[in-house]
Amino acid sequence: MRQLVWFRNDLRVADHPALHAATGNGQTIACYCICTAQWRSHDMGDRRIAFQQRALRALSAELAELNIPLLILHTPTFADVSAALLALCNQHEVANVHFNDEYPLNERRRDLAVEQDLTAAGIPVQRYTADTLFAPGTLLTSGNKPYTVFSPFFKQWRNRLEQHMGQPLPAPQTQSPSNISSDPIPESWDGVCADLAAEQWPADEATAQRTLFNFADERMANYGTRRDIPSEPGTSGLSAHLAIGTVSARTCVATALKLKAGHADSDSGAEKWIAELAWRDFYRHIVALFDHVNYGFSFKRDYDRLQWRVAPDELEAWQRGETGYPLVDAGMRQLREIGWMHNRVRMVTAMFLTKHLLIDWREGERYFMQQLVDGDFPSNNGGWQWSASVGTDAAPYFRIFNPASQGERFDPKGIYVKRWVAELDAVSARQLFKAPLSTPAASQGDLLAEEVTYPAPIVDHKAARERALAFFKGDD
Ligand SMILES: Cc1cc2nc3c(=O)[nH]c(=O)nc-3n(C[C@H](O)[C@H](O)[C@H](O)COP(=O)(O)OP(=O)(O)OC[C@H]3O[C@@H](n4cnc5c(N)ncnc54)[C@H](O)[C@@H]3O)c2cc1C
Repeated sequence: MRQLVWFRNDLRVADHPALHAATGNGQTIACYCICTAQWRSHDMGDRRIAFQQRALRALSAELAELNIPLLILHTPTFADVSAALLALCNQHEVANVHFNDEYPLNERRRDLAVEQDLTAAGIPVQRYTADTLFAPGTLLTSGNKPYTVFSPFFKQWRNRLEQHMGQPLPAPQTQSPSNISSDPIPESWDGVCADLAAEQWPADEATAQRTLFNFADERMANYGTRRDIPSEPGTSGLSAHLAIGTVSARTCVATALKLKAGHADSDSGAEKWIAELAWRDFYRHIVALFDHVNYGFSFKRDYDRLQWRVAPDELEAWQRGETGYPLVDAGMRQLREIGWMHNRVRMVTAMFLTKHLLIDWREGERYFMQQLVDGDFPSNNGGWQWSASVGTDAAPYFRIFNPASQGERFDPKGIYVKRWVAELDAVSARQLFKAPLSTPAASQGDLLAEEVTYPAPIVDHKAARERALAFFKGDD
């Protein structure tokens, strides 16, 4: 009874419920669908595609060690997937198909079509929860509704964790050799080659595991105090791996719980980190249970009345890291250069676009998605809606980060800023975050060394703050 495992954003062999169940049922083959046209329509950028491609190569090699051939299907859009899978099942006389659930709307529709078409053809489909600790719909309020605020969601999620999350599954045993050969992984996907940013972002499962264990050994205990300092490696750096599933969220949580159990003094760092993984789950539950966010609407529909400014030059200045606000510019340049940005700075840059410039959060969401190696619709959408104050649990609209004081607080010596904004190298830390607080443009020369060619602030913080308050209140 041949089994088929369909891999998606779960490119690993350990803690993979679908793979585990399939190999327990019989001789197993695996497949992967390359859907570049669909991914592009989701604004997925080159770095993220290249990262996936590398991870797939590594997975193919891992599966080969287990004698599980990996077959590649070219299905430009999700609409092409069902027929391609059915043909593959018929060709290889597959008895059962197994896959782990994904939660954005297009993915859910794709999976439903696959399930219906295969079932109608007499091929049963088994689906598993692997991308979240608890399946969407299983954590509900006392009124049986999905949570729309993180804190009570987290309370229930955390209370159930130890007893109900289960333990990570081991990689399957090697099966007897198959007479089916793996397909080669194509060199280029939609013009994107796997070697893009390969040194910065190795994408295999072993690297993901090593990154997790090093973080647990060396930095997790101090996560609570170091996580907001962008110049330090205070966070795990696992987001790209979690986005494509080279490590499971459950393995991450289990590692943190183990650390806590072994060292009482690691408790708060590990707990804080577990809470961040709960945010990841929360946003997955939101996209699964509230379809409208998948269509680009604000979670709080009232805010869809807002008439955001159309200001292409300012949008471009933000994208290029030329706003005249050092922390914002450092973040945007980090993003452009390496495809990643520290969480604190993601919040600062996102608030700057939506509150200081009043540019539609969807512009920022799209740009981040195109640039990020960890681009992930639920987390990105959730982060943008939070920053713009239109989402679940949103920061209230009157909470507007002052980019200068954020810099003074989280990058007091300017180490992070100077790493990414080279022209500020000669400016003293004392001056660095003062300049934007003064009257913009004209006085810049007084504050910075003459040779500095850094742009003047494109907007004055105080005036922008007042404008934003009026905008959200509806009095502008
Ligand atoms: C505007 C904005 C956009 C974002 N876009 C993305 C995105 O596209 N992809 C993405 O993975 N994260 C996104 N985040 C969340 C967060 O910034 C990153 O997950 C984090 O910076 C990744 O670094 P790390 O792996 O070292 O995180 P750690 O601090 O080590 O956290 C561990 C893991 O928890 C999850 N996590 C942490 N914070 C959050 C959060 N606020 N929301 C959801 N999950 C979280 C991530 O999977 C992360 O890898 C966004 C946040 C904001 C404010």
